Amino acid sequence: MIPYGKQDINQDDIDAVVNVLKSDYLTQGPAIGQFEQAVSEYCGAEYAIAVNSATSALHIACLALGVSKGDIVWTSPNSFVASSNCAIYCDATVDFVDIDVETGNISVALLRAKLQEAKKNNTLPKVVIPVHFAGQSCDMAEIAKLANEFHFKIIEDASHAIGAKYQNSPVGNCQFSDICVFSFHPVKIITSAEGGMLTTKCGNIATKLKSLRSHGITNQPKDLVKDDQGPWYYEQQSLGFNYRITDIQAALGLSQMKRLDEFVTRRHQLTALYTKHLPINLTHLMQSPDCYSSYHLYVVLLDNAAKRKEIVTQLRARGIFAHVHYIPIHLQPYYHNLGFRKGDYPNAEEYYSKAITLPLHPNLTENDIIFISDTLRELM
Ligand SMILES: *Cc1c(COP(=O)(O)O)cnc(C)c1O
Repeated sequence: MIPYGKQDINQDDIDAVVNVLKSDYLTQGPAIGQFEQAVSEYCGAEYAIAVNSATSALHIACLALGVSKGDIVWTSPNSFVASSNCAIYCDATVDFVDIDVETGNISVALLRAKLQEAKKNNTLPKVVIPVHFAGQSCDMAEIAKLANEFHFKIIEDASHAIGAKYQNSPVGNCQFSDICVFSFHPVKIITSAEGGMLTTKCGNIATKLKSLRSHGITNQPKDLVKDDQGPWYYEQQSLGFNYRITDIQAALGLSQMKRLDEFVTRRHQLTALYTKHLPINLTHLMQSPDCYSSYHLYVVLLDNAAKRKEIVTQLRARGIFAHVHYIPIHLQPYYHNLGFRKGDYPNAEEYYSKAITLPLHPNLTENDIIFISDTLRELM
């Protein structure tokens, strides 16, 4: 079976992990700081904070921006459920902004319209979480202008987008956001097995994130609120979590960071091969000239939604593990119970009805792409 996404682990990655296993620290060792520094330098953000998943990262990102009961958070319905669950963890209310069918990203025009409406109703969001779908950045400059006008904070869910660029600068530099979140799950661009990272330009936010990932505890003498009782002393100052990454995972992530550009270049080569070999009348996600995608996913859109189920089923029967990203979050049973209904976000629903994710990962060959393209052509 050709999977839709798969990690690429080489001997350097294995050696990096084994070295940690032979060292004194399995967790909270030197690899974590090195991994954070590598991501912070790559992205050009002053601070990077590693955690055990992007889901944890999104949760503490919301908390660090003060999201709590009574607050409203908006995100894209065309995403993984973690993009909106993070707000519910904080007892906030979630709502969605519909997407552009052409890119799968939230529509700036619909965001503007929804903000104007919300202003009248006094239901403006505290935080908006744009999701860089499939590795292509949202239009962050425009979203940041709206943030200025309507006074909300921005968390970029860049789980798909490490290695991507927006206006020639790396996603993750937080030029147009308060916090940016990456995932290092094995299907993503680089992996640390499980793992996530937050980047920010703001020292205060970074301090809060570091505290929240480790029980709300500090042992830094300058941060203590009571008298220092000795070298063993620490204080729990807020309600945090154990969201720490291990040194083993960080060593893998650090080693993979060295290969990030190579991976993204390879993904671009493979998507060019798809463009060459797929039927020419097939619709692909539109790429904005402002963006350089990391191509986490390769999505095609069928004209005829009625055929989608049969095509995906047949692709799998023939050894091609096609997938669909995403079932709109608001259609999940849990979100139905919160009051969302079919028809609430028609673009996300239309997009979902037509989308197929074809396999894309660095180890595919041109022959694989030809096989997938020919099989899809035949099924269509
Ligand atoms: C994968 C993913 C997440 C969650 O990442 P984990 O590291 O698995 O917690 C969140 N948002 C999006 C858009 C994702 O694709």
